[in-house]
Amino acid sequence: MDELPDWAPRNIDLTTPSAARVYDYFLGGAHNFAPDREMARRILDLHPTAEANAQANRAFLHRAVRHLVQQGVRQFIDLGSGIPTVGNVHEVAQREAPDARVVYVDIDPIAVAHSQLILDGVRNAAVVNADLRRPKEVLAAPQLAGLIDFSEPVAFLMVAVLHFIPESDRPEDTIAELHAVAAPGSYLVISHGYDARLDAVGAGAAPPAEQLAGEGKEVLGVYRRADPITVRTRPRIEQLFEGWPLVEPGLVWVPQWHPDWPDGVGTDPSSSYVLAGMGRKAD
Ligand code: SAM
Repeated sequence: MDELPDWAPRNIDLTTPSAARVYDYFLGGAHNFAPDREMARRILDLHPTAEANAQANRAFLHRAVRHLVQQGVRQFIDLGSGIPTVGNVHEVAQREAPDARVVYVDIDPIAVAHSQLILDGVRNAAVVNADLRRPKEVLAAPQLAGLIDFSEPVAFLMVAVLHFIPESDRPEDTIAELHAVAAPGSYLVISHGYDARLDAVGAGAAPPAEQLAGEGKEVLGVYRRADPITVRTRPRIEQLFEGWPLVEPGLVWVPQWHPDWPDGVGTDPSSSYVLAGMGRKAD
Protein backbone atom coordinates (compact mmCIF):
# COMPACT_ATOMS: atom_id res chain seq x y z
CA MET A 1 0.00 0.00 0.00
CA ASP A 2 1.27 3.49 -0.90
CA GLU A 3 2.09 6.01 1.82
CA LEU A 4 -0.04 9.12 1.75
CA PRO A 5 2.26 12.04 0.81
CA ASP A 6 2.56 14.92 3.31
CA TRP A 7 0.67 17.35 1.09
CA ALA A 8 -2.34 15.06 0.51
CA PRO A 9 -5.54 15.40 2.58
CA ARG A 10 -5.65 12.79 5.37
CA ASN A 11 -9.08 11.43 4.38
CA ILE A 12 -8.11 10.18 0.89
CA ASP A 13 -9.31 6.69 0.07
CA LEU A 14 -6.22 4.98 -1.30
CA THR A 15 -8.08 1.78 -2.14
CA THR A 16 -10.31 3.22 -4.89
CA PRO A 17 -8.89 4.50 -8.19
CA SER A 18 -9.75 7.99 -9.45
CA ALA A 19 -9.91 9.22 -13.05
CA ALA A 20 -7.76 12.24 -12.14
CA ARG A 21 -4.93 10.02 -10.88
CA VAL A 22 -5.26 7.52 -13.77
CA TYR A 23 -4.90 10.46 -16.18
CA ASP A 24 -1.85 11.63 -14.19
CA TYR A 25 -0.35 8.15 -14.69
CA PHE A 26 -1.03 8.30 -18.45
CA LEU A 27 0.77 11.66 -18.57
CA GLY A 28 3.80 10.24 -16.74
CA GLY A 29 2.99 11.98 -13.44
CA ALA A 30 3.88 10.74 -9.97
CA HIS A 31 0.64 11.57 -8.16
CA ASN A 32 -1.07 8.24 -8.42
CA PHE A 33 -1.40 5.22 -6.15
CA ALA A 34 -1.43 1.44 -6.64
CA PRO A 35 -5.18 1.11 -7.47
CA ASP A 36 -4.85 3.95 -10.00
CA ARG A 37 -1.86 2.31 -11.66
CA GLU A 38 -3.66 -1.03 -11.75
CA MET A 39 -6.68 0.57 -13.41
CA ALA A 40 -4.41 2.44 -15.87
CA ARG A 41 -2.68 -0.81 -16.80
CA ARG A 42 -6.02 -2.56 -17.38
CA ILE A 43 -7.08 0.27 -19.69
CA LEU A 44 -3.73 0.11 -21.51
CA ASP A 45 -4.18 -3.63 -22.03
CA LEU A 46 -7.51 -2.96 -23.73
CA HIS A 47 -6.58 0.31 -25.36
CA PRO A 48 -2.81 0.61 -25.88
CA THR A 49 -3.00 4.19 -27.19
CA ALA A 50 -4.53 5.55 -23.95
CA GLU A 51 -1.28 7.29 -22.93
CA ALA A 52 -0.81 8.83 -26.37
CA ASN A 53 -4.46 9.95 -26.32
CA ALA A 54 -4.01 11.66 -22.94
CA GLN A 55 -0.87 13.39 -24.22
CA ALA A 56 -2.64 14.53 -27.41
CA ASN A 57 -5.43 15.98 -25.28
CA ARG A 58 -2.94 17.79 -23.06
CA ALA A 59 -1.11 19.17 -26.11
CA PHE A 60 -4.45 20.49 -27.40
CA LEU A 61 -4.98 22.27 -24.06
CA HIS A 62 -1.61 24.00 -24.46
CA ARG A 63 -2.34 25.09 -28.05
CA ALA A 64 -5.80 26.33 -27.06
CA VAL A 65 -4.40 28.44 -24.19
CA ARG A 66 -1.69 29.95 -26.40
CA HIS A 67 -4.30 30.70 -29.07
CA LEU A 68 -6.54 32.40 -26.50
CA VAL A 69 -3.69 34.55 -25.22
CA GLN A 70 -3.00 35.59 -28.82
CA GLN A 71 -6.68 36.59 -29.08
CA GLY A 72 -6.14 38.88 -26.07
CA VAL A 73 -7.72 36.69 -23.37
CA ARG A 74 -6.09 37.19 -19.99
CA GLN A 75 -8.44 35.30 -17.66
CA PHE A 76 -8.94 31.54 -17.52
CA ILE A 77 -11.18 29.30 -15.44
CA ASP A 78 -10.01 25.71 -15.87
CA LEU A 79 -12.88 23.42 -14.86
CA GLY A 80 -11.78 19.86 -14.15
CA SER A 81 -8.17 21.02 -14.19
CA GLY A 82 -6.70 17.74 -12.93
CA ILE A 83 -3.51 17.02 -11.06
CA PRO A 84 -0.87 19.61 -11.98
CA THR A 85 1.61 18.24 -14.46
CA VAL A 86 3.99 19.62 -17.06
CA GLY A 87 2.57 22.74 -18.72
CA ASN A 88 -0.21 23.87 -16.46
CA VAL A 89 -2.53 26.57 -17.76
CA HIS A 90 -0.97 29.40 -15.71
CA GLU A 91 2.52 28.40 -16.89
CA VAL A 92 1.51 28.32 -20.56
CA ALA A 93 -0.56 31.52 -20.35
CA GLN A 94 1.87 33.53 -18.21
CA ARG A 95 4.81 32.58 -20.44
CA GLU A 96 2.99 34.40 -23.27
CA ALA A 97 1.32 37.09 -21.12
CA PRO A 98 2.72 37.55 -17.59
CA ASP A 99 -0.48 39.34 -16.53
CA ALA A 100 -2.70 36.31 -17.29
CA ARG A 101 -4.87 35.13 -14.37
CA VAL A 102 -5.96 31.54 -13.85
CA VAL A 103 -8.39 29.81 -11.49
CA TYR A 104 -8.29 26.03 -11.37
CA VAL A 105 -11.37 24.06 -10.32
CA ASP A 106 -11.48 20.36 -9.54
CA ILE A 107 -13.62 17.99 -7.55
CA ASP A 108 -10.73 15.66 -6.71
CA PRO A 109 -9.04 16.44 -3.36
CA ILE A 110 -5.64 15.17 -4.52
CA ALA A 111 -5.77 17.39 -7.61
CA VAL A 112 -6.68 20.37 -5.43
CA ALA A 113 -4.10 19.65 -2.71
CA HIS A 114 -1.30 19.33 -5.22
CA SER A 115 -2.46 22.46 -7.06
CA GLN A 116 -2.32 24.38 -3.75
CA LEU A 117 1.20 23.13 -3.23
CA ILE A 118 2.52 24.22 -6.61
CA LEU A 119 0.61 27.53 -6.56
CA ASP A 120 2.09 28.56 -3.24
CA GLY A 121 3.77 31.90 -3.93
CA VAL A 122 2.55 32.03 -7.55
CA ARG A 123 0.95 35.33 -8.51
CA ASN A 124 -2.39 35.47 -10.29
CA ALA A 125 -3.38 31.81 -9.91
CA ALA A 126 -5.63 30.00 -7.44
CA VAL A 127 -7.47 26.71 -7.04
CA VAL A 128 -11.02 25.92 -5.93
CA ASN A 129 -12.25 22.55 -4.73
CA ALA A 130 -15.70 22.46 -6.34
CA ASP A 131 -18.06 20.47 -8.50
CA LEU A 132 -18.66 22.04 -11.91
CA ARG A 133 -22.21 20.70 -11.75
CA ARG A 134 -22.79 23.48 -9.18
CA PRO A 135 -21.70 26.47 -11.26
CA LYS A 136 -23.13 29.04 -8.85
CA GLU A 137 -20.79 27.73 -6.14
CA VAL A 138 -17.86 27.78 -8.54
CA LEU A 139 -18.59 31.36 -9.62
CA ALA A 140 -19.11 32.54 -6.03
CA ALA A 141 -15.85 31.01 -4.75
CA PRO A 142 -13.73 33.61 -2.92
CA GLN A 143 -10.67 32.52 -4.93
CA LEU A 144 -12.18 34.20 -8.03
CA ALA A 145 -12.35 37.60 -6.34
CA GLY A 146 -9.47 39.79 -7.44
CA LEU A 147 -8.50 37.37 -10.22
CA ILE A 148 -11.53 37.16 -12.49
CA ASP A 149 -13.36 40.25 -13.74
CA PHE A 150 -16.52 39.17 -15.52
CA SER A 151 -16.82 42.51 -17.30
CA GLU A 152 -13.86 41.34 -19.44
CA PRO A 153 -13.65 38.24 -21.67
CA VAL A 154 -12.83 35.04 -19.84
CA ALA A 155 -12.02 31.57 -21.18
CA PHE A 156 -13.79 28.61 -19.60
CA LEU A 157 -11.77 25.45 -20.18
CA MET A 158 -13.65 22.15 -19.96
CA VAL A 159 -10.94 19.86 -21.25
CA ALA A 160 -11.45 16.10 -20.94
CA VAL A 161 -13.98 16.59 -18.16
CA LEU A 162 -17.51 16.62 -19.58
CA HIS A 163 -17.44 12.90 -20.37
CA PHE A 164 -17.42 12.44 -16.57
CA ILE A 165 -20.74 14.34 -16.33
CA PRO A 166 -23.77 12.15 -17.02
CA GLU A 167 -26.66 13.40 -19.11
CA SER A 168 -28.88 13.35 -16.02
CA ASP A 169 -26.64 16.10 -14.53
CA ARG A 170 -27.37 18.32 -17.55
CA PRO A 171 -23.93 19.70 -18.51
CA GLU A 172 -25.73 22.23 -20.73
CA ASP A 173 -27.15 23.88 -17.59
CA THR A 174 -23.65 24.51 -16.22
CA ILE A 175 -22.54 25.87 -19.59
CA ALA A 176 -25.61 28.17 -19.73
CA GLU A 177 -24.74 29.56 -16.27
CA LEU A 178 -21.20 30.28 -17.42
CA HIS A 179 -22.56 31.94 -20.58
CA ALA A 180 -24.84 34.15 -18.48
CA VAL A 181 -21.93 35.70 -16.55
CA ALA A 182 -19.44 35.82 -19.45
CA ALA A 183 -18.68 39.11 -21.20
CA PRO A 184 -19.03 39.16 -25.00
CA GLY A 185 -15.84 37.84 -26.56
CA SER A 186 -15.49 35.15 -23.88
CA TYR A 187 -14.60 31.61 -24.92
CA LEU A 188 -15.64 28.06 -24.11
CA VAL A 189 -13.13 25.28 -24.81
CA ILE A 190 -14.27 21.66 -24.74
CA SER A 191 -12.50 18.40 -25.42
CA HIS A 192 -14.56 15.25 -25.07
CA GLY A 193 -13.86 11.54 -25.42
CA TYR A 194 -15.52 10.31 -28.60
CA ASP A 195 -15.88 7.20 -30.69
CA ALA A 196 -17.06 7.78 -34.26
CA ARG A 197 -18.79 4.39 -34.28
CA LEU A 198 -21.45 5.86 -31.99
CA ASP A 199 -22.81 8.42 -34.43
CA ALA A 200 -24.14 5.61 -36.54
CA VAL A 201 -26.10 4.46 -33.52
CA GLY A 202 -27.95 7.54 -32.37
CA ALA A 203 -27.61 11.03 -33.82
CA GLY A 204 -28.43 13.89 -31.47
CA ALA A 205 -28.85 11.78 -28.38
CA ALA A 206 -26.41 10.26 -25.95
CA PRO A 207 -26.55 6.59 -26.95
CA PRO A 208 -26.13 4.04 -24.21
CA ALA A 209 -22.58 2.80 -23.88
CA GLU A 210 -23.92 -0.72 -24.32
CA GLN A 211 -24.19 0.01 -28.03
CA LEU A 212 -20.43 0.17 -28.29
CA ALA A 213 -18.77 -3.07 -29.18
CA GLY A 214 -15.51 -4.72 -28.18
CA GLU A 215 -12.62 -2.86 -26.61
CA GLY A 216 -14.50 0.46 -26.30
CA LYS A 217 -17.19 -1.14 -24.20
CA GLU A 218 -14.64 -2.89 -22.01
CA VAL A 219 -12.75 0.36 -21.37
CA LEU A 220 -16.01 2.00 -20.26
CA GLY A 221 -16.55 -0.98 -17.96
CA VAL A 222 -13.18 -0.38 -16.27
CA TYR A 223 -13.96 3.33 -15.75
CA ARG A 224 -17.41 2.50 -14.38
CA ARG A 225 -15.80 1.21 -11.18
CA ALA A 226 -14.07 4.57 -10.58
CA ASP A 227 -15.51 7.56 -12.46
CA PRO A 228 -18.08 6.41 -15.04
CA ILE A 229 -17.73 7.84 -18.53
CA THR A 230 -20.67 9.19 -20.52
CA VAL A 231 -20.33 8.69 -24.25
CA ARG A 232 -21.81 11.38 -26.49
CA THR A 233 -22.31 11.64 -30.24
CA ARG A 234 -20.71 14.41 -32.29
CA PRO A 235 -24.07 16.24 -32.68
CA ARG A 236 -24.57 16.10 -28.93
CA ILE A 237 -21.08 17.50 -28.26
CA GLU A 238 -21.78 20.25 -30.82
CA GLN A 239 -24.99 21.08 -28.95
CA LEU A 240 -22.96 21.85 -25.82
CA PHE A 241 -21.59 24.89 -27.68
CA GLU A 242 -25.03 26.48 -27.89
CA GLY A 243 -24.52 30.25 -27.51
CA TRP A 244 -20.78 29.88 -28.23
CA PRO A 245 -20.39 29.69 -32.04
CA LEU A 246 -17.43 27.50 -32.91
CA VAL A 247 -14.32 29.24 -34.19
CA GLU A 248 -12.11 27.70 -36.88
CA PRO A 249 -11.53 24.81 -37.42
CA GLY A 250 -14.77 23.76 -35.66
CA LEU A 251 -15.18 20.53 -33.74
CA VAL A 252 -12.31 18.28 -34.84
CA TRP A 253 -10.06 15.52 -33.55
CA VAL A 254 -7.60 16.98 -31.03
CA PRO A 255 -4.50 16.67 -33.26
CA GLN A 256 -6.35 18.60 -36.00
CA TRP A 257 -7.03 21.67 -33.83
CA HIS A 258 -4.45 24.27 -34.93
CA PRO A 259 -1.51 21.83 -35.03
CA ASP A 260 1.85 23.39 -34.25
CA TRP A 261 3.26 22.03 -37.48
CA PRO A 262 1.52 20.50 -40.55
CA ASP A 263 2.55 16.92 -39.86
CA GLY A 264 1.54 17.27 -36.18
CA VAL A 265 -1.87 15.87 -37.20
CA GLY A 266 -0.51 12.37 -37.84
CA THR A 267 -1.90 9.83 -40.26
CA ASP A 268 -5.03 8.89 -38.30
CA PRO A 269 -6.30 11.71 -36.06
CA SER A 270 -9.39 9.65 -35.20
CA SER A 271 -7.14 7.35 -33.17
CA SER A 272 -6.96 10.17 -30.58
CA TYR A 273 -10.57 9.33 -29.57
CA VAL A 274 -11.01 12.94 -28.42
CA LEU A 275 -12.90 15.73 -30.19
CA ALA A 276 -12.13 19.35 -29.42
CA GLY A 277 -13.54 22.75 -30.18
CA MET A 278 -13.50 26.39 -29.08
CA GLY A 279 -16.58 28.60 -29.10
CA ARG A 280 -16.77 32.36 -28.72
CA LYS A 281 -19.65 34.31 -27.20
CA ALA A 282 -20.68 36.88 -29.79
CA ASP A 283 -19.95 40.61 -29.26
N1 SAM B 1 -8.44 19.20 -17.83
C1 SAM B 1 -7.23 18.45 -17.57
C2 SAM B 1 -6.60 18.05 -18.87
O1 SAM B 1 -7.33 17.91 -19.86
O2 SAM B 1 -5.39 17.83 -18.91
C3 SAM B 1 -7.51 17.23 -16.68
C4 SAM B 1 -8.48 16.24 -17.25
S1 SAM B 1 -8.75 14.83 -16.21
C5 SAM B 1 -9.00 13.59 -17.40
C6 SAM B 1 -10.42 15.12 -15.66
C7 SAM B 1 -10.53 15.93 -14.39
O3 SAM B 1 -11.89 16.34 -14.19
C8 SAM B 1 -10.14 15.15 -13.14
O4 SAM B 1 -9.15 15.84 -12.43
C9 SAM B 1 -11.43 15.05 -12.34
O5 SAM B 1 -11.21 15.08 -10.94
C10 SAM B 1 -12.16 16.29 -12.82
N2 SAM B 1 -13.63 16.24 -12.61
C11 SAM B 1 -14.46 15.20 -12.89
N3 SAM B 1 -15.72 15.52 -12.56
C12 SAM B 1 -15.69 16.81 -12.08
C13 SAM B 1 -16.69 17.71 -11.58
N4 SAM B 1 -17.98 17.33 -11.51
N5 SAM B 1 -16.31 18.93 -11.17
C14 SAM B 1 -15.00 19.30 -11.23
N6 SAM B 1 -14.01 18.49 -11.69
C15 SAM B 1 -14.35 17.26 -12.12
